[in-house]
Amino acid sequence: MDRTFVMVKPDGVQRGIVGEIVSRLELKGLKLVAARFEKLPEARVTEQYKEHLSKPFFPSLKTYIMGGPCFLMVWEGRNVVALVRKVIGATNPQEAAPGTIRGDFGIDIGRNVIHASDSPESAAREIGIHFKPAEVFAYTRIDESVLYEY
Ligand code: UDP
Ligand code: MG
Repeated sequence: MDRTFVMVKPDGVQRGIVGEIVSRLELKGLKLVAARFEKLPEARVTEQYKEHLSKPFFPSLKTYIMGGPCFLMVWEGRNVVALVRKVIGATNPQEAAPGTIRGDFGIDIGRNVIHASDSPESAAREIGIHFKPAEVFAYTRIDESVLYEY
């Protein structure tokens, strides 16, 4: 099954919407397979966002992400990477559709509440930055045929 890396950013944690976000992903039918609450060290923030190292917003992005604890997760499901990107909405909350997490809970691009991997390759890379293989759990939840057509 496909996996993606999702992280509630410090603004989302401070606003008390971790539960709401987890709930939306659970209600969609996705399976939580790893989670950790922590303040990210600089090296992992830089690694996570290395494609943006030369961008003008990188210093403020780093300060933002290191500004408080984050809630890091791995979610599993069919085509989960693209699916979660739809659930979180556009990068800029001003453009994110109502009903998406950023559309419902954010206002500024620099306080957009949540991160999710943008491709299967990024997902594999990002999961590897933040989680050891033994921290990602395979378990049986329900009869998956209530969610998936086989
Ligand atoms: N970001 C920002 N200003 C910008 C573009 C991006 O502060 O002009 C921040 C924002 O927090 C965003 C993150 O950098 O979520 C990573 O940017 P990316 O384009 O990868 O967006 P995402 O994949 O998070 O939708
Ligand atoms: Mg991105």
